Amino acid sequence: MSRIRSRDTKPELIVRKMLHGMGYGYRLHVRDLPGTPDIVFRGRKKVIFVHGCFWHGHEGCRFAAKPSTRDQFWRHKIEAAQRRDALACEALTRDGWKTLIVWECELSQDALRVRLISFLGTSSREAERSLQSDAYERL
Ligand SMILES: [Zn+2]
Repeated sequence: MSRIRSRDTKPELIVRKMLHGMGYGYRLHVRDLPGTPDIVFRGRKKVIFVHGCFWHGHEGCRFAAKPSTRDQFWRHKIEAAQRRDALACEALTRDGWKTLIVWECELSQDALRVRLISFLGTSSREAERSLQSDAYERL
Protein backbone atom coordinates (compact mmCIF):
# COMPACT_ATOMS: atom_id res chain seq x y z
CA MET A 1 0.00 0.00 0.00
CA SER A 2 2.93 2.37 -0.31
CA ARG A 3 2.19 3.29 -3.89
CA ILE A 4 -0.40 5.92 -4.58
CA ARG A 5 -3.20 4.63 -6.77
CA SER A 6 -6.09 6.90 -7.50
CA ARG A 7 -9.04 4.61 -6.99
CA ASP A 8 -8.34 2.99 -3.67
CA THR A 9 -6.38 5.56 -1.69
CA LYS A 10 -8.77 8.46 -2.26
CA PRO A 11 -6.38 11.41 -2.46
CA GLU A 12 -9.00 13.81 -1.18
CA LEU A 13 -9.39 11.84 2.04
CA ILE A 14 -5.65 11.92 2.58
CA VAL A 15 -5.59 15.70 2.24
CA ARG A 16 -8.65 16.15 4.46
CA LYS A 17 -7.20 13.96 7.16
CA MET A 18 -3.96 15.90 7.02
CA LEU A 19 -5.74 19.27 7.23
CA HIS A 20 -7.88 18.07 10.10
CA GLY A 21 -4.82 16.82 11.97
CA MET A 22 -3.19 20.20 11.43
CA GLY A 23 -6.14 21.98 13.02
CA TYR A 24 -7.77 23.63 10.00
CA GLY A 25 -11.53 23.92 9.76
CA TYR A 26 -13.10 23.54 6.33
CA ARG A 27 -16.25 22.72 4.42
CA LEU A 28 -16.59 20.12 1.70
CA HIS A 29 -17.92 20.26 -1.85
CA VAL A 30 -19.48 23.68 -1.67
CA ARG A 31 -21.94 23.74 -4.55
CA ASP A 32 -22.54 27.48 -4.68
CA LEU A 33 -18.91 28.04 -5.72
CA PRO A 34 -17.63 27.55 -9.28
CA GLY A 35 -16.46 23.98 -9.87
CA THR A 36 -17.79 22.77 -6.49
CA PRO A 37 -14.38 22.93 -4.79
CA ASP A 38 -13.45 19.86 -2.76
CA ILE A 39 -12.25 21.70 0.34
CA VAL A 40 -13.35 25.23 1.19
CA PHE A 41 -12.00 27.68 3.77
CA ARG A 42 -14.63 30.41 3.76
CA GLY A 43 -12.98 32.62 6.34
CA ARG A 44 -9.70 32.61 4.46
CA LYS A 45 -11.44 32.78 1.08
CA LYS A 46 -9.40 29.86 -0.17
CA VAL A 47 -10.25 26.57 -1.80
CA ILE A 48 -8.39 23.38 -2.54
CA PHE A 49 -9.07 21.02 -5.41
CA VAL A 50 -7.68 17.51 -5.10
CA HIS A 51 -7.26 16.11 -8.57
CA GLY A 52 -6.70 12.58 -9.75
CA CYS A 53 -3.82 12.72 -12.24
CA PHE A 54 -5.47 10.55 -14.87
CA TRP A 55 -8.96 12.05 -14.87
CA HIS A 56 -7.80 15.64 -14.74
CA GLY A 57 -4.91 15.19 -17.16
CA HIS A 58 -1.92 16.14 -15.01
CA GLU A 59 0.67 17.36 -17.56
CA GLY A 60 3.86 15.36 -17.65
CA CYS A 61 2.79 13.09 -14.81
CA ARG A 62 3.43 9.36 -14.78
CA PHE A 63 -0.10 8.72 -13.52
CA ALA A 64 -1.66 10.71 -16.34
CA ALA A 65 -2.70 9.38 -19.73
CA LYS A 66 0.23 7.96 -21.64
CA PRO A 67 0.83 8.91 -25.29
CA SER A 68 -0.08 5.33 -26.15
CA THR A 69 -3.58 5.94 -24.88
CA ARG A 70 -5.25 6.53 -28.21
CA ASP A 71 -8.73 6.05 -27.01
CA GLN A 72 -10.58 9.18 -28.13
CA PHE A 73 -13.33 8.66 -25.59
CA TRP A 74 -10.99 9.06 -22.62
CA ARG A 75 -9.10 11.84 -24.27
CA HIS A 76 -12.28 13.85 -24.73
CA LYS A 77 -13.31 13.20 -21.17
CA ILE A 78 -9.95 14.30 -19.81
CA GLU A 79 -9.84 17.39 -22.00
CA ALA A 80 -13.33 18.33 -20.89
CA ALA A 81 -12.26 17.97 -17.25
CA GLN A 82 -9.23 20.19 -17.89
CA ARG A 83 -11.43 22.85 -19.45
CA ARG A 84 -13.88 22.71 -16.55
CA ASP A 85 -11.04 22.97 -14.04
CA ALA A 86 -9.55 25.98 -15.80
CA LEU A 87 -12.91 27.76 -16.00
CA ALA A 88 -13.66 27.09 -12.34
CA CYS A 89 -10.27 28.47 -11.27
CA GLU A 90 -10.76 31.56 -13.41
CA ALA A 91 -14.21 32.22 -11.99
CA LEU A 92 -13.02 31.71 -8.42
CA THR A 93 -10.05 34.03 -8.94
CA ARG A 94 -12.36 36.66 -10.40
CA ASP A 95 -14.50 36.46 -7.26
CA GLY A 96 -11.45 36.96 -5.07
CA TRP A 97 -10.83 33.33 -4.06
CA LYS A 98 -7.40 31.79 -3.93
CA THR A 99 -7.18 28.27 -5.30
CA LEU A 100 -4.69 25.47 -4.73
CA ILE A 101 -4.62 22.30 -6.77
CA VAL A 102 -3.20 19.22 -5.10
CA TRP A 103 -2.49 16.34 -7.47
CA GLU A 104 -2.69 12.76 -6.29
CA CYS A 105 0.99 12.30 -7.15
CA GLU A 106 1.89 15.10 -4.71
CA LEU A 107 0.62 13.48 -1.56
CA SER A 108 4.01 12.84 -0.02
CA GLN A 109 3.43 13.94 3.53
CA ASP A 110 6.12 16.51 4.36
CA ALA A 111 6.11 18.40 1.08
CA LEU A 112 2.32 18.59 1.04
CA ARG A 113 2.16 19.79 4.64
CA VAL A 114 4.50 22.65 3.82
CA ARG A 115 2.45 23.57 0.77
CA LEU A 116 -0.79 23.54 2.72
CA ILE A 117 0.62 25.70 5.49
CA SER A 118 2.09 28.22 3.10
CA PHE A 119 -1.18 28.38 1.15
CA LEU A 120 -3.49 28.65 4.13
CA GLY A 121 -1.36 30.41 6.67
CA THR A 122 -0.86 28.85 10.08
CA SER A 123 -3.77 27.15 11.77
CA SER A 124 -4.77 27.85 15.32
CA ARG A 125 -2.61 25.08 16.67
CA GLU A 126 0.65 25.98 18.26
CA ALA A 127 2.13 22.59 17.44
CA GLU A 128 2.27 23.77 13.88
CA ARG A 129 5.25 25.98 14.40
CA SER A 130 7.76 23.26 15.12
CA LEU A 131 6.36 21.11 12.34
CA GLN A 132 6.64 23.98 9.91
CA SER A 133 10.24 24.82 10.71
CA ASP A 134 11.22 21.15 10.60
CA ALA A 135 9.69 20.68 7.21
CA TYR A 136 11.23 23.82 5.77
CA GLU A 137 14.66 22.76 6.94
CA ARG A 138 14.37 19.55 5.01
CA LEU A 139 13.59 21.27 1.71
ZN1 LIG B 1 0.27 13.74 -11.24
